[in-house]
Amino acid sequence: MALELDISRIRSVKGSEEHYHLETAVFDFMDDDWQLVKPLVIDAEISHQDKFLYLKGHANTAVKGNCSRCLEQVVVPVECSFAEQLLYTKDVSLFSHLAVGEVEEKYFIYDNDTLEITDIIRESILAVLPLKILCKDDCRGLCPKCGKNLNQGQCDCDLHEVDPRLAILAKLKETEEV
Ligand SMILES: [Zn+2]
Ligand SMILES: [Zn+2]
Repeated sequence: MALELDISRIRSVKGSEEHYHLETAVFDFMDDDWQLVKPLVIDAEISHQDKFLYLKGHANTAVKGNCSRCLEQVVVPVECSFAEQLLYTKDVSLFSHLAVGEVEEKYFIYDNDTLEITDIIRESILAVLPLKILCKDDCRGLCPKCGKNLNQGQCDCDLHEVDPRLAILAKLKETEEV
């Protein structure tokens, strides 16, 4: 689902302000690591400044992912904010004193009366989520041998048994040291 704001009115009236409220139950995180577990609620406002539109707002939801060590599901509440200066594509020339790429870096360029904010929202949500999903900092993960979740207790596997590939390395190291 596209997250779109109708900016036709605000674009035409300098100094005006407009409020938006959006809700969606589906959201594309691009990578598959996260999924919504409750509707994403977005409150935003745009004010028409001198040469650009100023968008700011906040988003609220909760997402789930899988712990990268034990694969258990992890739910993370999300509360984030965003702010962006929006520049009409034809007005980019007003900023010709800026270096190439600098305008795009500073402004979000739009080209019609509909502002698609999915990228802005995704970026602000991902910014508050951990890069690596962990159910807890000291998650013990899964036993590499039997696959038991070690947070639920120790298994009976002997993990001190040396992997044959490692044994060869250890042997090489021994000869090197002689
Ligand atoms: Zn875990
Ligand atoms: Zn085990």
